[in-house]
Amino acid sequence: MTIPYGRQDITQTDIDAVVATLQSDYLTQGPRVPDFERAVAVHVGAAHAVAVNSATSALHIACLALGLGPGDWLWTSPITFVASANCALYCGARVDFVDIDPRTCNLCPQALERKLQQAQREGCLPKVVVPVHLCGQACDMAAIHALAQRYGFRVLEDASHAIGGKYQGGYVGDGRYSDITVFSFHPVKIITTAEGGMAMTNDAGLVDRMALLRSHGITREPAQMSHAPEGPWYYQQTELGFNYRLTELQTALGLSQLNRLDEYVARRHQLARRYDVLLAPLPVTTPWQHPDQYSGLHLYVVRVDTAASGRTRGQVFAALHARGIGVNVHYIPVHTQPYYQRLGFRPGDFPQAERYYEEAISLPMYATLTEAQQDEVVAVLRDALTE
Ligand SMILES: *Cc1c(COP(=O)(O)O)cnc(C)c1O
Repeated sequence: MTIPYGRQDITQTDIDAVVATLQSDYLTQGPRVPDFERAVAVHVGAAHAVAVNSATSALHIACLALGLGPGDWLWTSPITFVASANCALYCGARVDFVDIDPRTCNLCPQALERKLQQAQREGCLPKVVVPVHLCGQACDMAAIHALAQRYGFRVLEDASHAIGGKYQGGYVGDGRYSDITVFSFHPVKIITTAEGGMAMTNDAGLVDRMALLRSHGITREPAQMSHAPEGPWYYQQTELGFNYRLTELQTALGLSQLNRLDEYVARRHQLARRYDVLLAPLPVTTPWQHPDQYSGLHLYVVRVDTAASGRTRGQVFAALHARGIGVNVHYIPVHTQPYYQRLGFRPGDFPQAERYYEEAISLPMYATLTEAQQDEVVAVLRDALTE
C-alpha cells in the first residue's frame, strides 16, 4: 500500500533512546518501567499505572483485579477488537454485548440501561462493563458511571484508541468515572512501544493486584507476605500470575514517544478537520464528534451512503485498495465471529452494530500523513463513489 490506514512515527530520538537502553544494565525489570508508568499517570491525571506487554494483557489482569470469575458476566460493545470481550473468557466469566448508539458508534447508555433493568429482573447483572472509546471518542462516561452506581457493576474503560483524548475537559484515563482504564501501544495506535499496554487506576488496592498478576503473582513486599521474609533473597508467590511484563527497550521507546503525544493528537485533529471539509460533498457520513469530547482520533471512520452512491462498502474498499489506499474496517461485530457464534450469539442480535459494519471504512489517519497524501485519498475515494 502506498498510503496505509495507520502508521507509527519513529524519530532519531526514539532510536537513540532504544539503543542507549540496549547498552544499559537492564533490558527488562529496570528503572524505566516505573518512570514510564509515572510519566503516563502524570500526563493523564491518574494516581497509579501498571505497564504490561499489551492492552490485551492489561484487560486480562484488570478483569482479574476487579474480581471477575466463573459465574460472572462482562458486557461490552460489539463494535470493538475481540480483546475487549475475550478478557472475560480468560477469567472463566461470560460475555454479553450492548448495542451501539448509531451517532457515536459507542456503546449506547440507553440500551445499557434497558439491558440492566432486564438483567436485574432475571438476576444476572454484570460484574464488569467495558466501554470502548471507538476511534478515540470517549463513551458517555457520566451516564455509564451513574448506572454503575445504581446497578453495582465495575467500569473498565478500553481506551486503546483514546490516549491523549479528553472527556469533559479531563484526560481519558484520569479515572473520574471508572475503576480502571486501559491503553494500547501497538504501532497503529497513537503512541507505540511496538507491543505494549498500560492500566491506569486511582485505587491502590487494584494497582497492587495488577502489579502482582503481571509478574507471576510474586511479591517481594514484606507487607504482602504471609509471614516475615526468610532473608534478603526471599519472595513469595501469593497468586497465580503471568509474565506480562513490558521490557526496558519497549519502555524507552514509549517514554520518548510520550513527549510527542499531545502534538500527535493535535495533528490528527487537523487532518480530521480537513477530511470533514473535503468529504462533505461526497455520499459518505463523516464521524460525529460530541461537543464534550476531544477525541484521541486513533481512527477516522466514514460510513458509505450505499443508497446515494449505489456502491457497497465492499466495492468502495476494493476500489481504494486497487489504487494503493490502505483503508481498513473497524470492526467486524465481535458477536458474529465464529468463536462467538459457538457461544450462542446470532447475526441480528445487535442490529445497530451490524448496520454500522456494513457501511464503515477507516480512512488513512496518522500523524505523519501529509496533506498531499490526504488529497490523494479523497480524490480516489471520490472516484470510487461516483465514477
Ligand atoms: C488494539 C486494541 C486492543 C488490543 O491492544 P493490544 O495492545 O494489541 O493487545 C484492545 N482493544 C481495542 C479497542 C483495540 O483497538
